[in-house]
Amino acid sequence: MSEERTEISEIGEFGLIDHLNENIIIKNSSTIKGIGDDAAVIDAGDHVKVVTTDLLLEGVHFDMSYAPLPHIGFKAVAVNVSDVAAMNAVPKQITVSIALSNRFSVEAVDALYAGINAAAEHYGVDVIGGDTTASRSGLVISVTAIGESKKELLSYRSGAKVNDIICVTGDLGGALVGLQILEREKQVYLANPDMKPELDKYSYVTGRQLRPEARMDIIHELREMGIVPSSMMDVSDGLASELFHICKASKVGVTIYEDKLPIDKQTFDTAVELNLDPITCVLNGGEDYELLFTINQKDFEKLEKHPDIHFIGHVTKEEEGKFLVTKSGTAVQLKAQGWKHF
Ligand code: ADP
Ligand code: MG
Repeated sequence: MSEERTEISEIGEFGLIDHLNENIIIKNSSTIKGIGDDAAVIDAGDHVKVVTTDLLLEGVHFDMSYAPLPHIGFKAVAVNVSDVAAMNAVPKQITVSIALSNRFSVEAVDALYAGINAAAEHYGVDVIGGDTTASRSGLVISVTAIGESKKELLSYRSGAKVNDIICVTGDLGGALVGLQILEREKQVYLANPDMKPELDKYSYVTGRQLRPEARMDIIHELREMGIVPSSMMDVSDGLASELFHICKASKVGVTIYEDKLPIDKQTFDTAVELNLDPITCVLNGGEDYELLFTINQKDFEKLEKHPDIHFIGHVTKEEEGKFLVTKSGTAVQLKAQGWKHF
């Protein structure tokens, strides 16, 4: 037998998930949607449950030299709530599993849970269980969130239709820029521990990185307005990468416009200071946890004046491809660089 070895980096995170999915067969009729969206969907009689899970590792997803424990706890919950929101569902329960090294005291775990409980309160979810174990490599947190929706209100990645309008909430790129600032200040501190980091002028972008908000407010507003997005996902890997997911799942193309992309002034100025291209940060920065969704044109009027929803482009036929129209009017092909862990 020949010993084959394929590097994970050759196929990437998404390639690996697709590869694993090839050997998974759904056996139960109550499994409405398995792998492939922001959350799985389970039939619960008169409604559906959605289930999503995320794993956060010290040194990969957070750095304890600048991320306070309560923020880490809050973020671990918020990123899961964001995936529930991305299905157009409402979160109800979470489980929380942690692995701790002996570096952690009861007080440290209390600090982590202060953030977890604050997020549970904020999003109206109950902590219903989890698991606790020892770790040899720092802190590991895994949160699973369960949400509810009506079947007909769900928004999958696969529902975008030609001529739908592409919408994004809030502003993008901030979390990536915030991370760069936190890393820079960490290096400055390591080189000279007497230097106090100057973080005040970066509070918005560092806040975007350290304590993101899931956009449940938008989900509730859409419901009140009677709008069901034709497709939706949250922006965790970067706008371009997420658009690729929607295009693949919906078998469509997209055209977006550079001058419509939402960027905060502090994000823009800080990106320039760091010699980063602000538009690249918007397109490829990760962890903003905003919502990317498409709506039918008939719903546009209802959302047009919304202060925090931006209309960045429209859905096209698959064969038309994926394009960004720059400020000078040139159409360039979108590239999905995403937020790669491998
Ligand atoms: P998100 O960024 O929205 O959390 P991911 O990119 O992590 O989504 O995951 C995409 C899909 O792949 C989801 O349906 C998720 O449940 C599934 N998935 C990820 N990792 C695995 C795995 N190791 N085994 C099975 N399914 C997985
Ligand atoms: Mg998601």
